Amino acid sequence: MSRLLLENRISARNDKPYGPGKIIYWMNRDQRLVDNWALVAAADLAQKTNRPLAVVFVMFDGFSSLVFNQSNPIYVRLGQGLRHVLDEARRLGIDFSIERGNPIEVIPALIKRERAGVLMSDFSPLKEIQAIKDHVNEAIDIRFLEVDAHNVIPVWMASNKAEWGAYTLRPKIQRLLPNYLLSIPEVKFLGTAQIHVDQSLAAWLDGLPPLPTPEAAMRSFIDERLTDYHFRNNPNLDVTSRLSAYLHFGNLSANRLALEVQQSRHPSEEFLEEMIVRRELADNFCHYNQNYDSISGFPDWAKRSLDAHRNDPRPYIYTLEELEYAKTHDPAWNAAQTQLTKTNYMHGYMRMYWAKKILEWIPSPEEAFKTALYLNDKYQLDGRDPNGYVGIAWALGGVHDRPWGERAVFGTVRYMNMAGLKRKFGVDEYVDRWTIK
Ligand code: FAD
Repeated sequence: MSRLLLENRISARNDKPYGPGKIIYWMNRDQRLVDNWALVAAADLAQKTNRPLAVVFVMFDGFSSLVFNQSNPIYVRLGQGLRHVLDEARRLGIDFSIERGNPIEVIPALIKRERAGVLMSDFSPLKEIQAIKDHVNEAIDIRFLEVDAHNVIPVWMASNKAEWGAYTLRPKIQRLLPNYLLSIPEVKFLGTAQIHVDQSLAAWLDGLPPLPTPEAAMRSFIDERLTDYHFRNNPNLDVTSRLSAYLHFGNLSANRLALEVQQSRHPSEEFLEEMIVRRELADNFCHYNQNYDSISGFPDWAKRSLDAHRNDPRPYIYTLEELEYAKTHDPAWNAAQTQLTKTNYMHGYMRMYWAKKILEWIPSPEEAFKTALYLNDKYQLDGRDPNGYVGIAWALGGVHDRPWGERAVFGTVRYMNMAGLKRKFGVDEYVDRWTIK
């Protein structure tokens, strides 16, 4: 393992002293104990300084877009991933606890109780998480380090600015990939792990239906569907990986998945383009553009053009409720929304059409952005993710895209319509599959 490359993944949130006590890895975005660079960095420091290591996850009840509810499918999916982490902790002898509450209070209290010497966490560019970490930082008096364990190439190493598009980030990634795409060392300790789960969560976690392990989900994609990945834009064929929730919750490492795909019988460049370049472009956007969550983050040409068409008559106007319950005139859109609400997943090709129609049917781009984000984050298992902000910003505001021919409402933002869908795939079959009868 190259020490320099590991150090390149680490960013210090403060210059407070390293205390003599335990190292705490506050697991947040990367919910796994295998193939996790943040855990590797924490274990490396623990070994070098001869200190114990413990991992903690805090179940926070109050994120702005989602309130904890034991039967909400998104929390069920989060819990299923955590149950697997508990199994991994026992197998690997890693002390692991699941606490409940606001991390702003829970983490400083834990550091005090445990007399911890260093706090480490994984990295997310999202503002809400960054703000929580800022508060934690203020409340503690020990060193706080953050490790990018999510991106194959740490976001700050891939580029030092917001990129224009995949075409500007791709060459940077290609140049760095051989250095960073490495197999990730296993972290394992002798002896029995100390496991603690907050009482209010233990029975819930135990009772959750089983989920295929990240390893099994990855193998099933690589062995059974990767060979057909070039048909990925056909929503009637289930050939995409369906790994987005595993990647979003960090149950599966993108680094590991990329290595496995490269070493497989079908090392699909198309898949690696989506899973590395497009995914890491989304982190790049959210990291360097503080307006990633509103139309202020759109490129100037799109802002100007959408503004010029602000008062264009809309062919149809729908309320949030009509959209949410799939009650529009458009059977393909209704089918996509139904796929989303029934399965908490919408096929990637339909996500583009779905979001663009929201721009067309809502009175203003500002409201359209909020509506698309609300529905995306309420229902998609992989929602509340840089990929979601950027996917919606691409569809509504030309982020990472270019101007196209001018037309009503959209201005020069790329347009999609039913005729285009029909040229691509059998829309009737999709509508038939996802229409409530
Ligand atoms: P696959 O085709 O198997 O791709 C593998 C992985 O690559 C995905 O799991 C994902 O991590 C990444 N990926 C694929 N396409 C993209 C892309 N266009 N941009 C960035 N990363 C990509 N993705 C999310 O993870 N969360 C979201 O909330 C989300 N919302 C979206 C909203 C809109 C309007 C659009 C247009 C796209 C959105 N995407 C989102 C991106 C993409 O549609 C999904 O990641 C993909 O469809 C998930 O299915 P899959 O895992 O089978 O994808």
